[in-house]
Amino acid sequence: MGLYLLLSAPVIFLAKAGDRPSFVIRNARVFDGHKVLDQADVWVADAKIKAIGKSLKVPSDVKVIDATGDTLLPGLIDAHTHAWGDALKEAEIFGVTTELDMFTSLTFMQPTKKEQAEGKDLDQADLFSAGSLATAPGGHGTEYGVPVPTLTSPAEAQAWVDARIAEGSDYIKIIVDDATAYGSHRPTLSMETVKALIDAAHKRGKLAVVHISRQQDARDVINAGADGLAHLFSDTAPSPDFASLAAAHHVFIVPTLTVLEGVDGLASGASLTTDPRLAPYLTADDISNLKRSFPKSPTALSEKYAEQTVAQLKGAHVPVLAGTDSPNPGTSHGVSIHRELELLVRSGLTPQEALAAATSVPATAFHLADRGVIAPGKRADLVLVKGNPTQDILATRDIVSVWKLGAEDDRATYRAAIEKTKAQATAATQASAPSGSDMGLISDFEDGTPQAKFGTGWMLSTDSIAGGKSTGEMKVVDGGANGGKHALEISGQIDGSLPYAWAGVMFSPGSQPFAAMNLSLKKSISFFAKGDGQTYRVLVFTTSGGRIPAQQTFTAGSAWKKTTIPLSAFNDTDGHDITAILFVGGPAPGKFDFQIDDVSLE
Ligand SMILES: [Zn+2]
Repeated sequence: MGLYLLLSAPVIFLAKAGDRPSFVIRNARVFDGHKVLDQADVWVADAKIKAIGKSLKVPSDVKVIDATGDTLLPGLIDAHTHAWGDALKEAEIFGVTTELDMFTSLTFMQPTKKEQAEGKDLDQADLFSAGSLATAPGGHGTEYGVPVPTLTSPAEAQAWVDARIAEGSDYIKIIVDDATAYGSHRPTLSMETVKALIDAAHKRGKLAVVHISRQQDARDVINAGADGLAHLFSDTAPSPDFASLAAAHHVFIVPTLTVLEGVDGLASGASLTTDPRLAPYLTADDISNLKRSFPKSPTALSEKYAEQTVAQLKGAHVPVLAGTDSPNPGTSHGVSIHRELELLVRSGLTPQEALAAATSVPATAFHLADRGVIAPGKRADLVLVKGNPTQDILATRDIVSVWKLGAEDDRATYRAAIEKTKAQATAATQASAPSGSDMGLISDFEDGTPQAKFGTGWMLSTDSIAGGKSTGEMKVVDGGANGGKHALEISGQIDGSLPYAWAGVMFSPGSQPFAAMNLSLKKSISFFAKGDGQTYRVLVFTTSGGRIPAQQTFTAGSAWKKTTIPLSAFNDTDGHDITAILFVGGPAPGKFDFQIDDVSLE
């Protein structure tokens, strides 16, 4: 067999200082996004694929990577995520080089897209984003604390869409979900408004992608002209004509089977956490989230209905796109695409069709002409895996290398950092209790200072470290609980620009903030509180729980009241690796003011 394709341009590549290295991957099985080439070479230069073929002739200074027995794939595309924080870095570690975000904050989207346009961030997945989402006041999407510009009538649709495009949205995401699928109720957009939004998006050349949870809504939005569904429904088995309706309207569908399992009450990602090909790259946060699920719905939702629908869609040649809805419960960025591929195959797609669902199919659906396939001139976003995922889909997990724009992701350093953190957590497990903690009292504030009997004293903590704008202050005030002389007053203002906004005070049991200490001899946290009548949160950080704290709430009324919370109520911790305990206001925006006293571990 001769060359599959070769550029007609001169084949001399002159390396310049600072250029990305040119390399050739030899003898790989290549899934090019559409079909399998049994053994081929892929030559990468200047961040793009320069040539693909058999026994390519390349200059002698081009690095050769022998990939005999391995399979080269286009960089994977996750067609439904919510990106913030380290999401895009994590995604790339697991072979996802493009995320199609379906709602995030502008404070994340705008700087990320700017850096991307400047050719930075090669160690993280590319971001395309809906930005904000279209929903009714109080509708789905407004519960996370990120400000969402809502709308109520078709007349507002064009201005709403134009404002998103001005903010940088790549496509328009619309919510149609009154929560009856989950046995609940919340406001949602009227179908007239949905249709007006879709028309407004099309008028500006943008795709309109719609979140639904019920089959009837799926049918209605398809009839209203939606370009794609951001989820499949799991409320009913598909009607016999569902796929033909979808095909007739040329829609694409992102089933998001992994999150639908989570909605079913199944921890979709649990099996990923024990897979030796993936687990060493998972942080404690990732692992705890992958093992979570949503509370089981009282209604008859079943992810199996969605799998049946995927099979029907396949028969009607409706484009099916792999998407995970990370980081919802049971999912995590990057790693969950491997579970989604597994579930797509379980639904009836061949492994090759599933791979296309994470490469060429989303690239075509979202008009991303520069990626999703391995062909000359395309971006050198590539994943090399051991074995043959075109036969065994689980082989996508056995990643050898990931490249974005020809730059190899440093997975080894990432893995080493995770190993180090895990080793520290294990060491903390074996540590003894901090001295001074045996009596259990943390602070009664009777000396007029915010000091503690052990660990660090109380210090202010706000979401400004995460880019938020909440403010707070603390001071020791007169008049404590139980006739004491003093208490600690915490007040401030919560700004709602982050979904997890907070401001308050933090105590660390070790001598340094966030040093883990073993408090497993204690069984509960108790404290007195009073305040403005609002609900407040106790957050407990543990090393094994990662960066997401476990939380419990209490109400601070006008009189001192004692609250005792078992440690086990904080994500089942036994207290062996507690790094911090916080008393905070938020995430609801507004002013807050409360006092605490006699904070103890019992
Ligand atoms: Zn979503």
